[in-house]
Amino acid sequence: MNKDTVCSLNEAIDILNEKIDALLIVDASADSYKTLSKKGMFNDFLDDSGSYKELIEKLWFHFNDTMDKITEDYQVFIPTFGKFTGKYSRRLKVLVNEVPHAIQMTIYPIDENNYIIILDELDNSEYMKDFFTSEKVTTIQNTYLFSMYIDLFRDTTSSLSITEISDETVHSSVKYSEWRHMIVNMIWPDDQALFMERTDPEYLKKNIMPGRTSSFDCLMQNLEGKYIWVKLIFSRSETNNSEEDFRYVFMVQDIHENSVQLMSTLKKYEELASKDALTDVFNHGRIETELYNAVEIAGRTDRAVSMIMFDIDYFKNVNDTYGHAVGDMTLKHFAYMLGKHFKKKNSVIGRWGGEEFVAVCYDADEQKAFAYAEEFRLAMEKEECKVAGTVTCSAGVTQIKKGDDFGKAFDRMDKALYNAKSVGRNCVRSL
Ligand code: GH3
Ligand code: MG
Ligand code: MG
Repeated sequence: MNKDTVCSLNEAIDILNEKIDALLIVDASADSYKTLSKKGMFNDFLDDSGSYKELIEKLWFHFNDTMDKITEDYQVFIPTFGKFTGKYSRRLKVLVNEVPHAIQMTIYPIDENNYIIILDELDNSEYMKDFFTSEKVTTIQNTYLFSMYIDLFRDTTSSLSITEISDETVHSSVKYSEWRHMIVNMIWPDDQALFMERTDPEYLKKNIMPGRTSSFDCLMQNLEGKYIWVKLIFSRSETNNSEEDFRYVFMVQDIHENSVQLMSTLKKYEELASKDALTDVFNHGRIETELYNAVEIAGRTDRAVSMIMFDIDYFKNVNDTYGHAVGDMTLKHFAYMLGKHFKKKNSVIGRWGGEEFVAVCYDADEQKAFAYAEEFRLAMEKEECKVAGTVTCSAGVTQIKKGDDFGKAFDRMDKALYNAKSVGRNCVRSL
């Protein structure tokens, strides 16, 4: 260094005074600050003195366009949250009359309680573009919980951090092969096998071509120990040497809110798809699945499972006498009565079609199911339907036997119903 160009401390202070846009001195323990010098946009923006806490809150508001609670990042400046000791420098955006200014803020601690704050307005044209890019990065970082650089060829990882404090990439020395086995413990147990399969180096090499991205969703523990839905993304670098170049960017994206919403929507759709639109009980497809499952359960276990087919008697007459709309209303009422009757009987009911309904009764042998059907028949006989009046039904009951397939069991139930119709209706028969 050329000695002649080195200035004295006093000269340095003069230079600083000229170059720096605002200089403040803070006494954190007394919660006060004093503005030693200010110029330009800071003339309006800064008071000559005041509460330090309020100053930080005001800066926070401008930096972030929000009155939300000061985040951890800024709490270090407030004495109640502990002593601030490190030097801190950050590029910020300050809004004055709706116009954004790019500012470099540096805080130097003099001792435990006294800091110097230097605020400098940066050349707008030069920094604003940069600033908005960094804002975008911050936005991305808020949804991307974590990102990392992986080189499978060297078996290395290095975490990528894009902060405004430092532009350095933080290097960690964890081997990728070891990292996987550490991270898997944060994955929901049921998703661990999927995680190990999709993060396997051979899988990544084989399935993700240069320049391509692949992802999968799983439940992962966050810092608070809560499992949240995340998307794990691997993106392979473009390369001219695909033989040996296996570099990837790995990212964890928080998709929890969306996933929870999506799943509840899917559940609603599933419900809609399995319900009969008119009567609100299970539809043909759904109750047929239930029958197949019931036959399978009865064949595999010792549980008694029975099925009942109900058919409204002379229903055509209801339509012919009162019209189709009353017919519909009567069907709805019949289904409502069925639902009420079978509610606490470990049974599932559905509309087979037209005026035919099926009940699948678990832990019910033929005798018990017959009693269920008979009770319902009697309840229906006593029920006064709006407009249509008394509406009766017939029922066929069968218990699923070992060695039955769906067809065999269904035929028996159908024949039992036919028998009930043959002997004059409004009765229950079993086979
Ligand atoms: P049975 O005692 O022999 O069962 O006589 P039924 O009149 O009940 O039997 P049938 O099979 O002759 O007639 C059933 C009627 O159910 C015919 C059809 O128009 C009516 N139906 C089927 N689906 C609906 C519906 O969704 N709404 C209305 N209103 N009627 C329906
Ligand atoms: Mg019928
Ligand atoms: Mg009928």
